[in-house]
This record gives sequence, structure tokens and C-alpha cells, in this order.
Amino acid sequence: MSTGSPVGSHRVVSPAGALPQAADRLDPDPGIADDEVRISVERLNLDAASYRQLHTAHGGDGEAVRAEVRAIIERRGKMHNPVTGSGGMLIGTVEEVGPRSPLGLKAGQKVATLVSLTLTPLHIDDGLARWDGKSEQVPTSGHAILFGRSIAAVLPPDLPEHLALAVLDVCGAPALVRRVVARRASAETTVAVLGAAGKSGSLSLAAARDAGAATVVAVVRDEIEDACLRGSGLADEIVIADATDPLRLAKKVEHALDGRGADVTVVCVDVPGCEHGAILSTATGGTVVFFSMATSFTAAALGAEGLAADVEMLIGNGYVPGHADYALDLLRANPHLKDLFIDRVGEETE
Ligand code: NAP
Repeated sequence: MSTGSPVGSHRVVSPAGALPQAADRLDPDPGIADDEVRISVERLNLDAASYRQLHTAHGGDGEAVRAEVRAIIERRGKMHNPVTGSGGMLIGTVEEVGPRSPLGLKAGQKVATLVSLTLTPLHIDDGLARWDGKSEQVPTSGHAILFGRSIAAVLPPDLPEHLALAVLDVCGAPALVRRVVARRASAETTVAVLGAAGKSGSLSLAAARDAGAATVVAVVRDEIEDACLRGSGLADEIVIADATDPLRLAKKVEHALDGRGADVTVVCVDVPGCEHGAILSTATGGTVVFFSMATSFTAAALGAEGLAADVEMLIGNGYVPGHADYALDLLRANPHLKDLFIDRVGEETE
């Protein structure tokens, strides 16, 4: 058994010198180095921005989406959407643990990987035959590799696996929102969440409340999402707005907050083009958390500069210590949040 690089650089096929996330292609060989772990894969969770892009590009043709995802995995040795640059995560069973793995995993454990599929060596052996290409969750079989420096969570016994997978995919959002709101240490903090009826959005609402925000505004796409959130207690105000329409969005958020922008704006929408609306909706000295993978760094940076907006802008790093447990605890503590998730991810199919 060889010794691997803890960051997985020995798995990079091309280009030489890149880390796995930036690589074009990884080597998913099932033989593990002495600090690696091999997982028998059961289900992938495609990142929402990636799935939406594929679904839109193929006009909703599930067979074409399935063929493209299969081709990406076979070509790249990982599920790394070349258009959105995003991936997702997976669940499976630990098959083999190298003797020097620091992850503390044991063979036979059911786990979710908490690192992106964009850097996880992955091989599928069923051609995605059990997936219709019409949902973010992909039942499949094959194997994936975790490096020495990686993260995985043992699946909780009290939640259906597909539900836990959906929560863990976006668990970085609520942990970051809690940190940002708590850091302001003000009883007056206002928070606006764009894409609030979605998975990361609804968890962010709950986290803002938990962290002591004074007013939480949910921005949703339409009346259907409004109805999903109404009565849930997750938000003080619900605003229906297109997050890609900056002027109308900012006007509606300010209207909900007595003429001010939000102290913290969280972008959880899965489509591009929300940067300027988020910046305009944020008060001077406030913070914008760009959790969405459809965010353009250029549009955010140049947009803020061009608007002379003195706002802090955070990239939603998917890792915050304790993020998995925190997200699962929020779900357990809030039946409305759990119902929202179940409505979104459906009943377990297998
Ligand atoms: P999700 O559950 O699909 O939620 C997205 C929400 O945005 C949906 O409610 C959607 O409404 C809404 N929406 C779409 N277009 C909108 C618009 N123009 N105006 C207002 N709302 C709109 O997605 P998710 O799983 O929470 O993921 C959200 C984002 O986080 C994605 O971009 C994903 O890539 C990213 N993400 C980031 C990380 C990280 O580590 N930073 C990890 C995972 C995911 P409809 O459903 O009606 O379309």
C-alpha cells in the first residue's frame, strides 16, 4: 500500500501540479493509499446549481441529463460540472480504510461525504441505470475515494437517508449564517434570505432565528413558495420577488424592513445573476453571504464597487466546524423545516 498525499494530489491525472478540485481529470483507481478510504457509493446528490443547469440545457429531457452526467463522471473521474464548476456530495458504505487514515471511519459504516464531488475520485459501474435524470438525487453504485485531509459524517440513525443527504449537502449555509449573525452581537440584526424556500435557504432562516436575528425576511420566487413558508414561523416577513431583478428586489426588501437594507443578506438561489440584487438589498456596513454556486465573483466584486456599496462579501465556504450536526439539529428541532425538506426531496424511493 502506497503513501498518498493528504490533499489527494497523487490522484490528479491532469493538469500536473493541480489540486483535485481544479483538476480536469482524477484517477478513481479502487486501490487505496495508506491514508485513504474507499466508499461503496449508493447515492449522489447533485448540487442544485449543477442540476438546474443540466436540466435547462437539455430542456428537461431526463435521458439526456443522465447521459451527460454519466459522460462527465467517466471523462473526469469525478462529478464536476464543467459549466457551473460545482458538484454535490454522496452517501455510501465505508468499504476499506487505510491504516493511516485520520478520518476515524470503520468499514461497514454508512456515511455522507462532506467534501465536494468536484474533488472526489468517483467510478460508477451501473451506467446510472436506476436514475431517470429528473431529480438531484441519483441512485447508483460504484466507488469513491476520500483522502487523508477530508471530511465525512456517519449518517444519523433517526432520519431517512435521502433526507439526511439533502440536509448535509447544504449544511455549510446555516453554520455560516449563525456565525455571521452572532458576530454582529446586536439585538437589532436583520437578515434577508434569497431563495428562502429552498434547502439551504430554509436552513438559513432557521439559523438566523437561532442566532438571535431581530427580523428575518424570506425572499421567495412565487406564491407557491410563499404558501410553503407561511405559518412556518421561520420568517417574520415573506417577500415575493425575482432575485435576479435587482431594483425590484431591493425595493421589496427595504419595504419589509422599514426602509433599510438587511444587515445580513444570504444568497441561496440556484440560478445566476443574483449578485447585484443582493448587494443593493444590504445596508451599509452589512454582509452578503454568497452561498450559491451560481455566483460570479466578478459580478459581485465589480457590482459592489460600481454601486459604491460598503458591504462585506463572503464566499459560502461549505465547511464550518460543526456544520453537519448543527444543520441536522435545526431540522430535528423544527417540524416545519422538516416538512419543507420532505416536500422538496420527496419520500424515499428505495
Ligand atoms: P434549492 O433547494 O433548489 O433552492 C433554491 C431556491 O431558489 C428555490 O426555492 C428556487 O425556487 C429559488 N429560486 C430560483 N430562482 C429564483 C429567482 N430568480 N428568484 C428567487 N428565488 C429563486 O437549492 P439549494 O440546494 O438550497 O442550493 C442553493 C444554492 O447553494 C445553489 O446555487 C447551490 O449550488 C449552492 N450550494 C452551495 C454549497 C457551498 O458549499 N457553498 C453547497 C451546496 C449548494 P424554485 O424551486 O421554485 O425554482
